[in-house]
Amino acid sequence: MNDIKTLKGWIEKGGKVVITTHQNPDADALGSSLGLSLYLQKLGLETTVISPTEYPGFLTWMEGNDDVVIYTEEMDAEIENMINEASMIFCLDFSSLDRINHLGEIVRASGAKKILIDHHLSPENFYDFSRWSTDAAATAELVYELIVEMGDSHLMDPEIANCLYAGIMTDTGNFKHSNVTRNVFEICAQLIEHGANISEVTRNIYDTNSFDRLRLLGFSLNKKLKLIPEYNTAYIALSKEELRKFNAQPGDTEGIVNYALSLNGVLFAALFTEKDNLVKMSFRSSGDFSVNDFARTHFSGGGHKNAAGGKSEDSLEETVIRFENLLKEYKKQLS
Ligand code: 5GP
Ligand code: MN
Repeated sequence: MNDIKTLKGWIEKGGKVVITTHQNPDADALGSSLGLSLYLQKLGLETTVISPTEYPGFLTWMEGNDDVVIYTEEMDAEIENMINEASMIFCLDFSSLDRINHLGEIVRASGAKKILIDHHLSPENFYDFSRWSTDAAATAELVYELIVEMGDSHLMDPEIANCLYAGIMTDTGNFKHSNVTRNVFEICAQLIEHGANISEVTRNIYDTNSFDRLRLLGFSLNKKLKLIPEYNTAYIALSKEELRKFNAQPGDTEGIVNYALSLNGVLFAALFTEKDNLVKMSFRSSGDFSVNDFARTHFSGGGHKNAAGGKSEDSLEETVIRFENLLKEYKKQLS
């Protein structure tokens, strides 16, 4: 079933294709989805990329962005139809259907062939075909490899290359995380060969801050950063009120957690952001401490060993207290 011939057979049959990715998509989620979409269009397929939520302005430069369907309650019936009419549904950069909110159950119930392309731990078994590897730094890396495996490298173009490069660049933290491999650099070299514009993608993603966003970062570091030396842990908690004060837009808090991790000696970093009915958490670690396990065990989340996320329905204050208390259980690993 996982033979490439199976996928080729489904593609030859044609039909409508839905590509979907996790809520609050990042550059890998959106870049791998749009890169795949542009490629499948070249094979003559009609594709729709569906995002479960809005995403940051620093991703909207990607080719195909204008045609992305963003889930809203008003669009519910229309999106359900799109999913039900599809002959293939590609699920990119997430490993369990709860990551696409209530679209998950529609995808699960659909009769379409489901294709998982992902690099997160512990995938749920809902798919008919997969290219899944936790050794891949980014889902974009797996999409690149799939296009090669299909025998279609010649279909790669600068737009596809830019989308895929964005995913690899950001999921490796601009090539500094432990997931960077020789394969990452080899694929990036190939993407440059196909026309990826490295400086332009980098500028679009990292150098398009709004004034408010940069001031939110300054405030977070100056006023909100907490260091717990005993557990080599640092965290930042931002209330709704504080986020409002800086007019925070989707994506504005992305990357803040990495500053906490950049403190000398810190092994575990967290960012708490208060939303309407929940607290969203971003966890990062360096070395052996698994934030995937931590997020999965205590905060209904998951991700990768060194980068994961979770959520809590308690108040921001209660969540932070719970977090601090939990550190005691991990004293040995964090000392
Ligand atoms: P971030 O902190 O950048 O939002 O997410 C870090 C990693 O954890 C990403 O790979 C993301 O997909 C994953 N992740 C973030 N939040 C959640 C969550 O609530 N559940 C699960 N399973 N994964 C998450
Ligand atoms: Mn990813």
